[in-house]
Amino acid sequence: MGIGVLGKYRAYLPVSDSTPMITLGEGDTPLVKSNRLGAELGCGELYFKLEGCNPTGSFKDRGMVVAIAKALEEHSVAVMCASTGNTSASAAAYGAYTGLPALVLIPKGEVALGKLAQAMAYGARIIMVDGNFDVALKLVRDFTTKHHITLVNSVNPHRLQGQKTAAFEVSDVLGDAPDLIFIPVGNAGNITAYWQGFKEYRAAEMTTRLPRMMGFQADGAAPIVRGHPINNPQTIASAIRIGNPASWQSALQARDESGGIIDAVTDDEILEAYRLLASREGVFGEPASAASVAGLIKTVNQGLDLSDKRVVCIITGTGLKDPDLAVSSVQAHTVEVEPTMEAVEAVALSAAG
Ligand SMILES: *Cc1c(COP(=O)(O)O)cnc(C)c1O
Repeated sequence: MGIGVLGKYRAYLPVSDSTPMITLGEGDTPLVKSNRLGAELGCGELYFKLEGCNPTGSFKDRGMVVAIAKALEEHSVAVMCASTGNTSASAAAYGAYTGLPALVLIPKGEVALGKLAQAMAYGARIIMVDGNFDVALKLVRDFTTKHHITLVNSVNPHRLQGQKTAAFEVSDVLGDAPDLIFIPVGNAGNITAYWQGFKEYRAAEMTTRLPRMMGFQADGAAPIVRGHPINNPQTIASAIRIGNPASWQSALQARDESGGIIDAVTDDEILEAYRLLASREGVFGEPASAASVAGLIKTVNQGLDLSDKRVVCIITGTGLKDPDLAVSSVQAHTVEVEPTMEAVEAVALSAAG
C-alpha cells in the first residue's frame, strides 16, 4: 500500500499510468471513539472521524490531491476555486507542492482568519469578491469555461472521487460500514462523496451493508431543507454558509437511497455542540463540523433510538481554523494572579479538587 489517498486507494480512483502520485500525507485520519457523549446520548457506539487531521486541516485535501494530480496529468497551467476558506487553503497547499498556481475567489469578510492565513502562506493569488460564496462560485464556473484553467471546486468530479475515500477508511477501521453517518452539508459534495464511497465498497464486497446518511445544514443556510435556494445565507458556520449547493440533487439521492434525512440545526445548537465536543471529548472541530454533532443531539432528542447502533460523526475541519470564534464564544476559565506560589495554589487547587 502506498501513502496518501492516491496510493492507498488507487484501485478505486481515476488513476492512470500518467497520473502523478503526489501526496502531502492526506487521509488515514483518526476514528476516535467517544468517551462521554455517546453514552450520554444512548448510542451503542459513537465515533468521530477527525478530518481536521488532514494536511491543511480539513477533508478538502482528499479531493484536492486527486483534482490537482489530474490537472497536472492534463497539463493544466493553473487551478481556480471559489471558497468559504477550506477549499482555497487546500488548493493553495497542493498548488504550492506541485508548482501549479492557485487562484482563489473568496467572499469578502466571510472567511475565517486561519483559512485566510493558509491561502496567504501557501502563496495563492487571492481575489476577494464583494459577494457571497454562491456569487463567487458562479464567477469561477464562468471563468474556467472561458479560460484554460482547471476548476477545483467540488463540481470537479475528481474532488468527490478523492473525498469518497473517507467512507472506505471508516469501513476499513470498523470492519464494516456503520449504521449511521452524521455529516454537515454545505455545497453537498461531501455527503454525495461518502454515499458514493459506501456504495462502491459494498459493491466490491468490502462491506455487507450501507449506512443511513444524516445530513445537517445550518438553519439560516438550509436550501435543501427549505426546498429552494437561499439568496442571503446566514450562519456562524462559515464553511456551510451556502445558499445554492452545487451537489443538491445528488445529496437528495444520498438521503433517499440510504433512508436518511437532511435537516437543519440552529446556530445555537451548533455552538452548543461545538463547545461540548471540545470540552467533553477533547475534539476541537470548526463550527461547521459541529453541525454533525448538533444533528445527532437533535435527532436523539426527537426520539431516535441508537442504543444498538454504530454511529459516526464526521468532524470535517479543525477548530484552529477559526480561533476568533473559540475565544469569543467559549466561556474561558482564565484568571490572573500575582506570580507567587500562594496565589497559584489559591486558584489551582480549587480547580483541581
Ligand atoms: C467544505 C466543508 C463542509 C461542507 O462540505 P460540502 O461538501 O460543501 O457539503 C463542512 N465542513 C467543513 C469544515 C468544510 O470545509
